[in-house]
Amino acid sequence: MNEEKNNMQWIELDGSRGEGGGQILRTALSLSMITGIPFAIDGIRAGRKKPGLLRQHLTAVQAATAVCGADVAGAALGSQSLRFKPGRVRGGDYRHAIGSAGSCTLVLQTLLPALWFADGPSTVRVSGGTHNPAAPPADFLIRSWQPLMRRMGVTLDIQLLRHGFYPAGGGEVLAATAPVAGWQPLHLNARGDLRRQTAVGVVAGVPAEVAKREMQRAASQLGVLDEELRVLPSNEGPGNVLLVMLEYPEATEVFSAFGERGMPAETVADRAAREARLFRDSGVPVGEHLADQLLLPMALAGQGSFTTHVLSSHLKTNCQVIEAFLPVRFACDEVERQVRVSVFPA
Ligand code: AMP
Repeated sequence: MNEEKNNMQWIELDGSRGEGGGQILRTALSLSMITGIPFAIDGIRAGRKKPGLLRQHLTAVQAATAVCGADVAGAALGSQSLRFKPGRVRGGDYRHAIGSAGSCTLVLQTLLPALWFADGPSTVRVSGGTHNPAAPPADFLIRSWQPLMRRMGVTLDIQLLRHGFYPAGGGEVLAATAPVAGWQPLHLNARGDLRRQTAVGVVAGVPAEVAKREMQRAASQLGVLDEELRVLPSNEGPGNVLLVMLEYPEATEVFSAFGERGMPAETVADRAAREARLFRDSGVPVGEHLADQLLLPMALAGQGSFTTHVLSSHLKTNCQVIEAFLPVRFACDEVERQVRVSVFPA
Protein backbone atom coordinates (compact mmCIF):
# COMPACT_ATOMS: atom_id res chain seq x y z
CA MET A 1 0.00 0.00 0.00
CA ASN A 2 2.79 2.45 1.02
CA GLU A 3 4.89 1.31 -1.92
CA GLU A 4 1.95 2.03 -4.16
CA LYS A 5 1.55 5.47 -2.59
CA ASN A 6 5.21 6.39 -3.06
CA ASN A 7 4.87 5.77 -6.78
CA MET A 8 1.59 7.56 -6.95
CA GLN A 9 1.28 10.58 -9.23
CA TRP A 10 0.60 13.88 -7.52
CA ILE A 11 -2.48 15.76 -8.64
CA GLU A 12 -1.63 19.38 -9.51
CA LEU A 13 -4.40 21.89 -8.88
CA ASP A 14 -4.70 25.54 -9.81
CA GLY A 15 -6.63 27.25 -7.01
CA SER A 16 -7.30 30.28 -9.20
CA ARG A 17 -9.34 28.33 -11.75
CA GLY A 18 -13.10 28.70 -12.02
CA GLU A 19 -14.63 29.71 -8.70
CA GLY A 20 -11.15 30.37 -7.27
CA GLY A 21 -12.32 29.95 -3.64
CA GLY A 22 -11.69 27.73 -0.63
CA GLN A 23 -13.87 24.89 -1.86
CA ILE A 24 -11.19 23.77 -4.34
CA LEU A 25 -8.82 23.19 -1.44
CA ARG A 26 -11.42 21.61 0.87
CA THR A 27 -12.64 19.16 -1.77
CA ALA A 28 -9.04 18.26 -2.61
CA LEU A 29 -8.27 17.62 1.08
CA SER A 30 -11.30 15.33 1.49
CA LEU A 31 -10.61 13.36 -1.66
CA SER A 32 -6.88 13.12 -1.08
CA MET A 33 -7.56 11.58 2.34
CA ILE A 34 -10.08 9.15 0.85
CA THR A 35 -8.12 8.07 -2.23
CA GLY A 36 -4.61 8.31 -0.77
CA ILE A 37 -3.58 10.45 -3.76
CA PRO A 38 -1.28 13.37 -2.83
CA PHE A 39 -1.89 16.82 -4.30
CA ALA A 40 -0.15 20.14 -4.78
CA ILE A 41 -2.13 23.35 -5.16
CA ASP A 42 -0.99 26.87 -6.13
CA GLY A 43 -3.00 30.05 -6.31
CA ILE A 44 -5.09 29.11 -3.26
CA ARG A 45 -8.20 31.34 -3.12
CA ALA A 46 -6.66 33.57 -5.78
CA GLY A 47 -10.15 34.73 -6.75
CA ARG A 48 -10.89 36.18 -3.29
CA LYS A 49 -10.24 39.63 -1.84
CA LYS A 50 -7.87 38.20 0.80
CA PRO A 51 -6.23 35.31 -1.07
CA GLY A 52 -4.39 32.40 0.54
CA LEU A 53 -5.21 30.38 3.63
CA LEU A 54 -7.39 32.14 6.19
CA ARG A 55 -7.88 30.59 9.63
CA GLN A 56 -10.81 28.46 8.43
CA HIS A 57 -8.77 26.94 5.60
CA LEU A 58 -5.68 26.49 7.72
CA THR A 59 -7.78 24.71 10.36
CA ALA A 60 -9.19 22.44 7.64
CA VAL A 61 -5.63 21.58 6.56
CA GLN A 62 -4.50 20.97 10.15
CA ALA A 63 -7.59 18.90 10.90
CA ALA A 64 -7.07 16.80 7.78
CA THR A 65 -3.42 16.34 8.76
CA ALA A 66 -4.47 15.13 12.22
CA VAL A 67 -7.06 12.70 10.84
CA CYS A 68 -4.70 10.96 8.40
CA GLY A 69 -1.15 11.80 9.58
CA ALA A 70 -0.35 13.64 6.34
CA ASP A 71 2.99 15.14 5.28
CA VAL A 72 2.26 18.78 4.55
CA ALA A 73 4.21 21.78 3.27
CA GLY A 74 2.88 25.32 3.05
CA ALA A 75 0.36 25.14 5.92
CA ALA A 76 0.62 28.74 7.15
CA LEU A 77 -1.73 31.72 7.29
CA GLY A 78 -1.74 33.56 3.97
CA SER A 79 -0.01 30.70 2.11
CA GLN A 80 -1.15 30.34 -1.50
CA SER A 81 0.60 27.01 -2.10
CA LEU A 82 0.21 23.69 -0.34
CA ARG A 83 1.52 20.17 -0.79
CA PHE A 84 -0.46 17.43 0.94
CA LYS A 85 0.56 13.77 1.09
CA PRO A 86 -2.05 11.83 3.04
CA GLY A 87 -1.66 8.81 5.32
CA ARG A 88 -4.37 6.41 6.47
CA VAL A 89 -7.59 7.93 7.80
CA ARG A 90 -8.19 7.01 11.44
CA GLY A 91 -11.44 7.26 13.32
CA GLY A 92 -11.23 9.00 16.70
CA ASP A 93 -12.35 11.95 18.76
CA TYR A 94 -11.13 15.16 17.16
CA ARG A 95 -11.29 18.73 18.41
CA HIS A 96 -10.37 21.81 16.42
CA ALA A 97 -10.53 25.51 17.21
CA ILE A 98 -10.53 27.93 14.30
CA GLY A 99 -9.56 30.77 16.61
CA SER A 100 -11.69 33.30 14.71
CA ALA A 101 -15.25 33.43 13.37
CA GLY A 102 -14.16 31.28 10.39
CA SER A 103 -16.79 28.73 9.44
CA CYS A 104 -16.99 25.56 11.59
CA THR A 105 -19.35 23.95 9.10
CA LEU A 106 -16.87 24.16 6.23
CA VAL A 107 -14.17 22.53 8.37
CA LEU A 108 -16.67 19.82 9.29
CA GLN A 109 -17.63 19.26 5.66
CA THR A 110 -13.93 18.74 4.85
CA LEU A 111 -13.37 16.08 7.49
CA LEU A 112 -16.65 14.14 7.47
CA PRO A 113 -16.32 12.53 4.01
CA ALA A 114 -12.88 11.20 4.96
CA LEU A 115 -14.20 9.80 8.23
CA TRP A 116 -16.83 7.85 6.25
CA PHE A 117 -13.84 5.78 5.06
CA ALA A 118 -12.05 5.54 8.43
CA ASP A 119 -11.31 2.40 10.44
CA GLY A 120 -13.90 3.20 13.13
CA PRO A 121 -16.42 5.76 14.38
CA SER A 122 -15.49 9.39 15.08
CA THR A 123 -16.61 12.53 16.78
CA VAL A 124 -15.52 15.96 15.59
CA ARG A 125 -15.91 19.13 17.59
CA VAL A 126 -15.11 22.43 15.89
CA SER A 127 -15.26 25.89 17.44
CA GLY A 128 -15.46 29.20 15.56
CA GLY A 129 -18.29 30.69 13.52
CA THR A 130 -21.49 28.66 13.13
CA HIS A 131 -23.52 31.28 11.23
CA ASN A 132 -21.43 33.06 8.61
CA PRO A 133 -22.33 34.80 5.39
CA ALA A 134 -20.92 32.91 2.35
CA ALA A 135 -20.87 29.57 4.23
CA PRO A 136 -23.58 27.07 5.21
CA PRO A 137 -25.11 28.03 8.57
CA ALA A 138 -25.11 25.14 11.08
CA ASP A 139 -28.90 24.95 10.66
CA PHE A 140 -28.42 24.39 6.94
CA LEU A 141 -26.12 21.44 7.60
CA ILE A 142 -28.50 19.95 10.16
CA ARG A 143 -31.83 20.51 8.38
CA SER A 144 -30.89 20.35 4.72
CA TRP A 145 -27.60 18.48 4.11
CA GLN A 146 -27.62 15.90 6.93
CA PRO A 147 -30.95 14.19 6.05
CA LEU A 148 -29.72 13.67 2.50
CA MET A 149 -26.43 12.24 3.73
CA ARG A 150 -28.44 9.80 5.88
CA ARG A 151 -30.49 8.77 2.85
CA MET A 152 -27.22 7.96 1.11
CA GLY A 153 -26.27 5.53 3.90
CA VAL A 154 -24.21 7.86 6.10
CA THR A 155 -24.45 7.68 9.89
CA LEU A 156 -24.35 11.29 10.99
CA ASP A 157 -25.51 13.36 13.93
CA ILE A 158 -24.59 17.05 13.91
CA GLN A 159 -25.36 19.21 16.93
CA LEU A 160 -25.13 22.96 17.27
CA LEU A 161 -23.73 23.41 20.78
CA ARG A 162 -23.29 27.20 20.76
CA HIS A 163 -23.90 29.85 18.12
CA GLY A 164 -20.93 31.86 16.85
CA PHE A 165 -21.17 34.98 14.66
CA TYR A 166 -18.68 37.21 12.88
CA PRO A 167 -16.53 38.83 14.26
CA ALA A 168 -16.56 37.27 17.76
CA GLY A 169 -16.80 33.57 16.83
CA GLY A 170 -16.95 31.33 19.90
CA GLY A 171 -19.60 28.97 18.50
CA GLU A 172 -19.28 25.19 18.49
CA VAL A 173 -20.60 22.25 16.49
CA LEU A 174 -20.25 18.57 17.31
CA ALA A 175 -20.65 15.75 14.81
CA ALA A 176 -20.71 11.99 15.37
CA THR A 177 -20.18 9.77 12.36
CA ALA A 178 -19.02 6.29 11.35
CA PRO A 179 -17.64 4.44 8.31
CA VAL A 180 -20.29 3.95 5.63
CA ALA A 181 -21.28 0.30 5.30
CA GLY A 182 -23.14 0.64 2.00
CA TRP A 183 -23.73 3.68 -0.21
CA GLN A 184 -27.25 4.34 -1.51
CA PRO A 185 -27.32 6.47 -4.66
CA LEU A 186 -29.53 9.55 -4.30
CA HIS A 187 -31.75 10.81 -7.11
CA LEU A 188 -33.45 14.10 -6.27
CA ASN A 189 -35.29 15.25 -9.34
CA ALA A 190 -38.71 16.09 -7.89
CA ARG A 191 -39.58 17.66 -4.55
CA GLY A 192 -43.32 17.14 -3.95
CA ASP A 193 -45.65 19.78 -2.45
CA LEU A 194 -44.47 22.33 0.08
CA ARG A 195 -45.23 20.92 3.56
CA ARG A 196 -44.19 23.70 5.85
CA GLN A 197 -42.33 26.99 5.83
CA THR A 198 -40.66 28.28 8.94
CA ALA A 199 -38.89 31.52 9.77
CA VAL A 200 -36.30 31.28 12.54
CA GLY A 201 -35.24 34.64 13.95
CA VAL A 202 -31.99 34.41 15.90
CA VAL A 203 -30.62 37.21 18.07
CA ALA A 204 -27.65 37.36 20.44
CA GLY A 205 -27.03 40.68 22.16
CA VAL A 206 -29.60 42.25 19.82
CA PRO A 207 -33.20 43.07 20.89
CA ALA A 208 -35.73 40.24 20.32
CA GLU A 209 -37.91 42.84 18.59
CA VAL A 210 -35.49 42.76 15.62
CA ALA A 211 -36.04 39.04 15.05
CA LYS A 212 -39.82 39.45 15.47
CA ARG A 213 -39.89 42.17 12.81
CA GLU A 214 -37.83 39.99 10.47
CA MET A 215 -40.20 37.04 10.88
CA GLN A 216 -43.24 39.24 10.37
CA ARG A 217 -41.77 40.69 7.21
CA ALA A 218 -40.84 37.22 5.93
CA ALA A 219 -44.45 36.15 6.44
CA SER A 220 -45.68 39.16 4.47
CA GLN A 221 -43.37 38.13 1.60
CA LEU A 222 -43.83 34.36 1.67
CA GLY A 223 -47.29 33.78 3.12
CA VAL A 224 -48.21 31.79 6.22
CA LEU A 225 -45.20 30.42 8.04
CA ASP A 226 -44.35 29.02 11.45
CA GLU A 227 -42.20 31.29 13.57
CA GLU A 228 -39.39 30.27 15.91
CA LEU A 229 -37.68 32.92 18.01
CA ARG A 230 -34.20 32.12 19.35
CA VAL A 231 -33.00 34.64 21.90
CA LEU A 232 -29.45 33.66 22.82
CA PRO A 233 -27.31 34.85 25.74
CA SER A 234 -25.70 38.16 24.78
CA ASN A 235 -22.19 36.68 25.19
CA GLU A 236 -22.91 34.51 22.11
CA GLY A 237 -23.15 37.70 20.08
CA PRO A 238 -23.57 40.24 18.92
CA GLY A 239 -25.32 38.54 16.06
CA ASN A 240 -28.57 38.30 14.16
CA VAL A 241 -29.61 35.90 11.43
CA LEU A 242 -32.95 35.12 9.85
CA LEU A 243 -33.31 31.56 8.57
CA VAL A 244 -36.14 30.62 6.23
CA MET A 245 -36.75 26.89 5.96
CA LEU A 246 -38.88 25.34 3.23
CA GLU A 247 -39.79 21.71 3.84
CA TYR A 248 -40.75 19.37 1.00
CA PRO A 249 -41.25 15.61 1.19
CA GLU A 250 -37.96 15.02 -0.64
CA ALA A 251 -35.74 17.76 0.81
CA THR A 252 -35.61 20.82 3.03
CA GLU A 253 -33.94 24.06 1.93
CA VAL A 254 -32.62 26.74 4.29
CA PHE A 255 -32.10 30.37 3.25
CA SER A 256 -30.38 32.92 5.45
CA ALA A 257 -29.68 36.62 5.76
CA PHE A 258 -27.62 38.42 8.38
CA GLY A 259 -28.36 41.56 10.34
CA GLU A 260 -25.85 44.36 9.96
CA ARG A 261 -25.41 47.56 11.91
CA GLY A 262 -27.61 50.24 10.37
CA MET A 263 -29.58 47.81 8.20
CA PRO A 264 -33.34 47.69 8.90
CA ALA A 265 -34.70 44.29 10.00
CA GLU A 266 -37.07 44.45 7.00
CA THR A 267 -34.14 44.59 4.55
CA VAL A 268 -32.60 41.51 6.18
CA ALA A 269 -35.90 39.66 5.87
CA ASP A 270 -36.35 40.75 2.25
CA ARG A 271 -32.98 39.24 1.34
CA ALA A 272 -33.78 35.81 2.79
CA ALA A 273 -37.34 35.91 1.44
CA ARG A 274 -36.19 36.82 -2.08
CA GLU A 275 -33.91 33.77 -2.24
CA ALA A 276 -36.59 31.52 -0.76
CA ARG A 277 -39.16 32.77 -3.26
CA LEU A 278 -36.83 32.29 -6.23
CA PHE A 279 -36.30 28.71 -5.13
CA ARG A 280 -39.99 28.09 -4.40
CA ASP A 281 -41.00 29.43 -7.84
CA SER A 282 -38.33 27.39 -9.63
CA GLY A 283 -40.00 24.07 -8.80
CA VAL A 284 -36.65 22.27 -8.32
CA PRO A 285 -35.77 20.20 -5.22
CA VAL A 286 -32.19 21.47 -4.76
CA GLY A 287 -31.14 25.10 -4.26
CA GLU A 288 -27.92 26.73 -5.42
CA HIS A 289 -25.79 26.06 -2.34
CA LEU A 290 -27.03 22.59 -1.55
CA ALA A 291 -26.24 21.70 -5.17
CA ASP A 292 -22.48 22.18 -4.89
CA GLN A 293 -22.48 20.45 -1.49
CA LEU A 294 -24.14 17.29 -2.84
CA LEU A 295 -21.58 16.64 -5.56
CA LEU A 296 -18.86 15.08 -3.45
CA PRO A 297 -21.07 12.65 -1.47
CA MET A 298 -22.89 11.65 -4.67
CA ALA A 299 -19.57 10.97 -6.38
CA LEU A 300 -18.53 8.83 -3.39
CA ALA A 301 -21.71 6.82 -3.84
CA GLY A 302 -20.59 6.25 -7.46
CA GLN A 303 -23.76 7.64 -9.00
CA GLY A 304 -26.67 10.01 -8.37
CA SER A 305 -28.56 12.96 -9.81
CA PHE A 306 -30.48 16.09 -8.85
CA THR A 307 -32.20 19.05 -10.40
CA THR A 308 -31.34 22.58 -9.40
CA HIS A 309 -32.00 26.05 -10.81
CA VAL A 310 -28.57 27.69 -10.91
CA LEU A 311 -25.47 26.44 -12.70
CA SER A 312 -23.11 28.21 -10.28
CA SER A 313 -19.36 28.55 -10.62
CA HIS A 314 -19.01 26.65 -7.31
CA LEU A 315 -20.88 23.77 -8.91
CA LYS A 316 -18.87 23.74 -12.12
CA THR A 317 -15.50 24.05 -10.39
CA ASN A 318 -16.30 21.43 -7.77
CA CYS A 319 -17.23 18.94 -10.52
CA GLN A 320 -13.80 19.46 -12.08
CA VAL A 321 -11.91 18.96 -8.82
CA ILE A 322 -13.86 15.79 -8.02
CA GLU A 323 -13.25 14.39 -11.52
CA ALA A 324 -9.49 14.90 -10.97
CA PHE A 325 -9.55 12.46 -8.01
CA LEU A 326 -12.35 9.96 -8.62
CA PRO A 327 -13.26 7.73 -11.58
CA VAL A 328 -16.55 9.56 -12.15
CA ARG A 329 -17.93 12.04 -14.66
CA PHE A 330 -20.54 14.78 -14.18
CA ALA A 331 -23.10 15.97 -16.69
CA CYS A 332 -24.89 19.31 -16.22
CA ASP A 333 -27.77 19.74 -18.66
CA GLU A 334 -29.71 22.99 -18.76
CA VAL A 335 -33.33 22.57 -19.79
CA GLU A 336 -35.84 25.41 -19.50
CA ARG A 337 -34.19 27.23 -16.59
CA GLN A 338 -33.55 24.01 -14.71
CA VAL A 339 -30.21 22.26 -14.43
CA ARG A 340 -30.10 18.47 -14.27
CA VAL A 341 -26.85 17.29 -12.68
CA SER A 342 -25.85 13.63 -12.84
CA VAL A 343 -22.78 11.74 -11.78
CA PHE A 344 -21.88 8.33 -13.15
CA PRO A 345 -18.86 6.01 -13.31
CA ALA A 346 -16.23 7.21 -15.82
P1 AMP B 1 -15.96 28.90 -0.90
O1 AMP B 1 -16.57 30.22 -1.29
O2 AMP B 1 -15.25 28.29 -2.06
O3 AMP B 1 -15.21 28.92 0.36
O4 AMP B 1 -17.23 27.89 -0.64
C1 AMP B 1 -18.31 28.29 0.16
C2 AMP B 1 -19.28 27.14 0.40
O5 AMP B 1 -20.34 27.64 1.23
C3 AMP B 1 -19.97 26.59 -0.86
O6 AMP B 1 -20.22 25.20 -0.68
C4 AMP B 1 -21.29 27.34 -0.86
O7 AMP B 1 -22.35 26.66 -1.53
C5 AMP B 1 -21.59 27.41 0.63
N1 AMP B 1 -22.51 28.53 0.95
C6 AMP B 1 -22.31 29.86 0.72
N2 AMP B 1 -23.38 30.58 1.13
C7 AMP B 1 -24.28 29.68 1.62
C8 AMP B 1 -25.58 29.79 2.19
N3 AMP B 1 -26.18 30.97 2.33
N4 AMP B 1 -26.22 28.65 2.56
C9 AMP B 1 -25.63 27.45 2.42
N5 AMP B 1 -24.40 27.28 1.92
C10 AMP B 1 -23.72 28.37 1.51
